[in-house]
Amino acid sequence: MTKLRNDWTKEEVLAIYNKPLMELLYEAASIHRENHNPNEVQVSTLISIKTGGCPEDCGYCPQAARYHTDIEKNDLLTVNQVKAMALRAKSSGSSRVCMGAAWRNVKDGQEFEDVLEMVRTINKLEMEVCCTLGMVTENQAQRLAEAGLYAYNHNLDSSEEYYNEVISTRGYEDRLQTIENVRKTNVTVCSGGIIGMGETLEDRAGMLVALSTLSPHPESVPINSLVAVEGTPLEDQKPVNMWDMIRMVATTRIVMPTTQVRLSAGRTEMSREGQAMCFFAGANSIFAGDKLLTTPNPDVNEDMKFFKEIGIIPMKPFAKKAQPETIEAKDSQYESLGEKPKWSRPDVTIERNEEAKQKAKAKNLEKA
Ligand code: SF4
Repeated sequence: MTKLRNDWTKEEVLAIYNKPLMELLYEAASIHRENHNPNEVQVSTLISIKTGGCPEDCGYCPQAARYHTDIEKNDLLTVNQVKAMALRAKSSGSSRVCMGAAWRNVKDGQEFEDVLEMVRTINKLEMEVCCTLGMVTENQAQRLAEAGLYAYNHNLDSSEEYYNEVISTRGYEDRLQTIENVRKTNVTVCSGGIIGMGETLEDRAGMLVALSTLSPHPESVPINSLVAVEGTPLEDQKPVNMWDMIRMVATTRIVMPTTQVRLSAGRTEMSREGQAMCFFAGANSIFAGDKLLTTPNPDVNEDMKFFKEIGIIPMKPFAKKAQPETIEAKDSQYESLGEKPKWSRPDVTIERNEEAKQKAKAKNLEKA
C-alpha cells in the first residue's frame, strides 16, 4: 500500500505535475491500482435543490445574483420532487446523489429542516447522499450527520492566493472552518477545485497542497475545469487544455492515493479519449445527467455506452465506507441553534467581479 503523506510541499507537487507525461501517467496509474479497482468508476448525480439568487460573488458562478446570466432560478424543491429525481438517478445507474443549494451558508429554519428530510429520504433509498449548501456550523454538520449524510462538499476552489482574486465575500479560512466542522462528525469530506480560471501552475499546486496537508485527506476531491458562462467575471477564459486536466488528475491521485478523484464540470468539452486517460490516471468518479447544477454535462445514456466500450463498471454505493444510520427528527439529540456565522473578508473588492456586477445592472435596466 502507498504511504499516505500530509506534508507535501508546493515544490514537490509542481515537480510531479511537470514530469514527462508518460512517467506521470505510469506513476499515477500504479498508485491508482494499488488503492482502487481501476475498472470501477462511481456515477453521481447532482441535483440543484435551490438554483440562483446567491449573495456570494464567486467569479466563475452563474448562480451569483449580482451577475447577469440566463439561468432559470428556483426556490427550494420539495422533498417529494427530490425523491423522484433521486429515484430516476438510481435507475439510470447513479449510486450517489449530491444536492446543491445556492446559499452562502446554511441557515437554521424550515428550509434546513426540509434539507434534513431530503437527506433521510435519499439515505433510505440506499444511495450515498452528499450536500453542498455553503458554510455550515458544527451543530448543523452534526444534524446532517444524524440524518444520514454520507459526504459534505465544500470546495477550496484554488490556492489561497488565487482564491482571493476570485471571491471577495468570504475567505479561505471560512472554507477551511467548514471542512473542520464537517470533520468533527462521521460525514466524509468532499473538497476540490476548478482549473482554467486564470490561475498559475503554482496555484494549482498550492490548492493540492492545501488539500493534501489536511489530515486525513478529503475522501473525495472533485477536479473541475471552468465552464466559462457569459455574464460572469470569468466569461472570457479559454477552455482548459486536455493535457492540463490529465496532469491535474494524475497529480491529485499521486498526492492523495486513497481519495476518490472526481472528474467534474467541463466534461462536455473533453474527448472520450481524454476522459479515458483521466480514468487511467486515477479519476474514479463522474457526475451524470445533462446538467451540472446549471452548466451542460454529457447525457447519462451516452456515459453508460462509453463505460461499456472501455470496460468500466459503475461503482456500487458504500463501496468505500458503510452506509450511515438515519436518525429520525423526533429522536435527534441536536436542536436548531439559529447561529449566524460571520464572513472574514469584509470591505474587499475584486475589480473584475465589480465590473461584471455593474454590467449586469446596466443590462437589467435596459430590459426594464
Ligand atoms: S459557487 Fe456557490 S456560493 Fe459561490 S456564487 Fe455560486 S452558488 Fe453561491
